[in-house]
Amino acid sequence: MNTSLKYIIFYIVFAITAFALYYPIDIFTKNSIDLQKNILIKQAQTHFNDQINTREWNAQYGGVYVKPKKGQKPNPYLKNNILKVDDNLTLIKINPAWMTRQLSELAKQSDIKDFHFKITSLTPINPNNIATPFEKKALKYFAKSKKKEYYEFNRDNKFNYMGALVTTKSCLPCHEHQGYKIDDIRGGISINLNSSEYESIKLSLEEKSLLVKIFLFIFLFSIAILIHKQLKHTLELEKEIKKRTKEINSTKILLQNILDNDKSFLLVSNGTEVIFANQTFLDFADFSSLSDFKSEGNHISDRFEKVDDPDFLHQLNNGVHWIEYMQKEQQNKNLKVLIKKNSNEYYFKLHSKEINIDNKLLYLITFDDITDDYIKIKDLTTEASTDPLTGLFNRRKLNGVLSKEIDISSVTKSPLSIIFLDIDHFKNVNDTFGHDVGDEVLTDLSKIITSATRQGDFIARWGGEEFMIALQATDNSAASHLAEKIRVAVEAYSFNVVGNITISLGVTEYQQDESKNNFTKRVDKALYEAKESGRNKVVVK
Ligand code: GH3
Ligand code: MG
Ligand code: MG
Repeated sequence: MNTSLKYIIFYIVFAITAFALYYPIDIFTKNSIDLQKNILIKQAQTHFNDQINTREWNAQYGGVYVKPKKGQKPNPYLKNNILKVDDNLTLIKINPAWMTRQLSELAKQSDIKDFHFKITSLTPINPNNIATPFEKKALKYFAKSKKKEYYEFNRDNKFNYMGALVTTKSCLPCHEHQGYKIDDIRGGISINLNSSEYESIKLSLEEKSLLVKIFLFIFLFSIAILIHKQLKHTLELEKEIKKRTKEINSTKILLQNILDNDKSFLLVSNGTEVIFANQTFLDFADFSSLSDFKSEGNHISDRFEKVDDPDFLHQLNNGVHWIEYMQKEQQNKNLKVLIKKNSNEYYFKLHSKEINIDNKLLYLITFDDITDDYIKIKDLTTEASTDPLTGLFNRRKLNGVLSKEIDISSVTKSPLSIIFLDIDHFKNVNDTFGHDVGDEVLTDLSKIITSATRQGDFIARWGGEEFMIALQATDNSAASHLAEKIRVAVEAYSFNVVGNITISLGVTEYQQDESKNNFTKRVDKALYEAKESGRNKVVVK
């Protein structure tokens, strides 16, 4: 919903509330005023009915004879208007209309100032009965509406009431000549009451109502201001939240793009499971999303291949979880992992950084793909340590291996032996069959030696047609057995073109604390002795 619509709804609700509260106040005020008005009307009606009754009484007698006041003339419009009782008393006839007028004059003269009444008509016979503007209005109203009552409030605290006089038989003697007929409304009795009490009550009620309305308005307006402020505040807050959310989302998208476009795998782990992975990783692992990856119960470490190198990480490393191990060892070691995908090997260099978010320790783990470099280095290393003709280690490599093996043997007290062998009269082979055939003999011999030895034994081509074998955890006796086994195998083998050849072998075991030089010199000596004592034999020293 947009902002202006919210404000419009708010003001409509405000107006409806104000109206809903004002309406009963108005109704209450109007009812209270009407009640006061009705009291006045009732009062006027009572007076009117009183006059009607009096007139009725007079009419029933066809007028009454009274003793005239001094100077009072009989009514010329009445028949039998004089009654001579005796010489001293003559009575005059009073009809209802005259009686009413006389009573009204009496009321006018009395001390009761708040009550006047008067008989009138639009065509009065008596000029004193001429209608006032109010009375004319009322009489015209009667003629038009056939109603028998009309009233008005005057500004000067007067309540004017007019009741209709219906023409009766008693009216005809005087008014028949004016065309009056029975049941015509030609006149009325106007009653004038003091309405000041009504006016003051009305004013007071109106004032009170106005006060209540003002109070209500102030009250509602204060609430409206408060709500308006709150609404404004809420709208501003909503706007701010929207703005911030947009900014956060843009930043998130930007960050996600940066992370997804990074060539390295970027993972965030809480130490046990991956809670974030960039697209590069998901693409590599063939997962469309992290939840996809997680739902399959995957651990990246499940994919770490076993490599016999302490720099390579596995799920557990000396019993320590790889993430923990990495935190501890990444300063000292060049930590790597090997992951296979579609029978291709990928090497990654690992780096982990602790990040603290909301007091939670997380690890940002980077996997940099070093496959190309790693393979190049591995090839170079292999080249530097391998004999190109036989594929065996070269002398330099075996020297290195020997040094390491001597160190291990010194610590573990495990025996270490070496076999040194040399082809007998190899010069003749070359001389007779050529150098290439000689090379083939060397290759075949390396295969015979390899197949006779164990996986962990180190075989090297020491020089021209000399080979050295280093045997871990092997004493002199076992080594001499192996040497004999190789000698017999070579002797029995028929080399291409050349046929049978023999070899001589020297065997010796490492003596505690002796130098490598000593150790190899002794085996060299054993071989020399084998040659000297007739060749095709094993000499143990
Ligand atoms: P001995 O029984 O005393 O060992 O006699 P030998 O002829 O084998 O001894 P010697 O050391 O005099 O000769 C070694 C020969 O090995 C010399 C050389 O022609 C040959 N040789 C050395 N390296 C290679 C090689 O890479 N290829 C070939 N075909 N021959 C080689
Ligand atoms: Mg030789
Ligand atoms: Mg030799």
